[in-house]
Amino acid sequence: MELICILCPRGCRMQVEPGADGQWVVKGNGCSRGKDYALQEMTCPMRTLTTSVWVEGGTYKLVSAKTDRSIPRDKIMEALKQTKRLKVKAPVNIGDVLIENIAGTGANLVATRKVERV
Ligand code: SF4
Repeated sequence: MELICILCPRGCRMQVEPGADGQWVVKGNGCSRGKDYALQEMTCPMRTLTTSVWVEGGTYKLVSAKTDRSIPRDKIMEALKQTKRLKVKAPVNIGDVLIENIAGTGANLVATRKVERV
């Protein structure tokens, strides 16, 4: 299987194959971070969730938000469902925690823009 490393602009094309000992064999990585990324992708792929949340009484109806760390890709839908149900009250500041421990991942959903109160 081929994977492109997204950790730096070099974008190494890596080949990942199962080894004889049951471990993954990674080739084509330009550094050890790429190998770690490839192994993570093969076992538990992680993604940062970026989304928007409804705001009540603010200068904008939505506030952009993202998780403060990557979460397992198979938890993204559950996390999105939580964000769709949420309505926060203005004012909202950058870095405000909107949902703690989203989808039980240990990550928090934080605001990435400021929304003033009307
Ligand atoms: S493997 Fe290393 S050098 Fe290659 S893209 Fe990833 S981080 Fe960059």
